[in-house]
Amino acid sequence: MAEQQVVADLREKCATPPSLLRDVAAAMADEMCAGLEMEGGSRVKMLLSYVDKLPTGREEGLFYGLDLGGTNFRVLKVQLGGNDKHVISRESREVAIPPHLMSGSSSELFGFIASELAKFVADEEKGTSLSNGKTRELGFTFSFPVRQRSVASGTLVKWTKAFSIEDAVGKDVVAELQTAMQKQGLDMHVAALINDAVGTLAGARYYDEDVVAGVIFGTGTNAAYVEKANAIPKWEGELPSSGQMVINMEWGNFYSCHLPVTEYDQALDNESLNPGEQIYEKLTSGMYLGEIVRRVLLKLSLQSAIFGEIDHTKLKTHFHLRTPHISAMHHDDTPDLKTVEEKLKEILEIAGTSLETRKMVVEICDIVARRVARLAAAGLAGILKKLGRDGSVDKRRSVIAIDGGLFEHYSKFSKCLETTLNELLGEESSKFIVVKHADDGSGIGAALIAASQSQYR
Ligand code: ADP
Ligand code: MG
Repeated sequence: MAEQQVVADLREKCATPPSLLRDVAAAMADEMCAGLEMEGGSRVKMLLSYVDKLPTGREEGLFYGLDLGGTNFRVLKVQLGGNDKHVISRESREVAIPPHLMSGSSSELFGFIASELAKFVADEEKGTSLSNGKTRELGFTFSFPVRQRSVASGTLVKWTKAFSIEDAVGKDVVAELQTAMQKQGLDMHVAALINDAVGTLAGARYYDEDVVAGVIFGTGTNAAYVEKANAIPKWEGELPSSGQMVINMEWGNFYSCHLPVTEYDQALDNESLNPGEQIYEKLTSGMYLGEIVRRVLLKLSLQSAIFGEIDHTKLKTHFHLRTPHISAMHHDDTPDLKTVEEKLKEILEIAGTSLETRKMVVEICDIVARRVARLAAAGLAGILKKLGRDGSVDKRRSVIAIDGGLFEHYSKFSKCLETTLNELLGEESSKFIVVKHADDGSGIGAALIAASQSQYR
């Protein structure tokens, strides 16, 4: 039958046997070396973060964090106790970014962010006075590729995910934010510019010295890790006294001929805001997972009678089916797949499906989500391989801290990721590797790095 052919074909094209994943991991490790070798040496940019010391737990004082990622941004305030007392108190607020600001002008976007930040500060400090006369210090998590020359400045290389604000490309995003804050009359100094992967690394390292990498699986995907300063040939200038440097990989732009790219992925890429770019991200992150499944369901509907006579408007709308919907259907454990029935009806206007059809939809979700998780695990194996921590050289405990909505909320994804990583490393080496969820690493990580870079230390 036509529908079974579509599914069988998908299964075959999305297959990720261990041999393929090992090739992907090896390619990732090679690209990492090439990116460190020289500027432009790889599609994986391996950007210097200028974070050469990570928080230790001894930081003290009041710090702010601002996290701009994909759909929301978060502002937060932490009081650090110092001497391993860690975080004494924290307050945070999440604000949705109005979609029109994602493709407007730089000053509109930063103006909006600064005004929300000013409101948060005003609400938080109502009744209290900042008596010490110090400027407030902020760590800014900005999760787009930025080329840095110092820890508190950086020019935007390009937008990714759903953002596309032409006049911000090539500008220093810290200067943009600082100007917008001044206009709001907000007395705050940006002490560090990082991204969510670096933030996750810092946030997790604050509590656990063995953390070697921070990885995001959210709207997009990225990874950061601690590299030996003398293993970065492209570095010009003096090496930091710590002997270390956090590398912002920007691995979303990774590509290898081993990646299982299907007709659905190709069409998605062609019609995207950034064709030909961020191929690994398009295969492994939350923004695209639902969209890939939508494309498969559309083909299924056009090539077979499986959904009956339906109006295709919703099913043809790009990004209408979102990853949280896929997750809900995939985790449906009711005997007659009630959730799947509801989602198909509510979101895609596909009503009156048979149980067989609903099972097929779940299978499609499973095929696509497993591919995402297994390719994600191959990326992690690539980092461990580069560090010699895949069991080949260094047998110390190594922790990978992961954050992002996909990892946090999609348990079949996170379980499959861990199982696959163990499969790739083997039983013996897996004992030394810990994958853990770093809750809100990115927001707090920025505040922690601001603290370790503070001008008042
Ligand atoms: P960002 O990457 O924008 O900083 P998050 O890390 O919070 O944001 O991740 C948000 C992404 O996580 C969403 O775009 C979505 O793809 C995914 N996500 C959110 N909730 C769920 C869910 N319940 N199941 C699966 N994926 C989810
Ligand atoms: Mg985020």
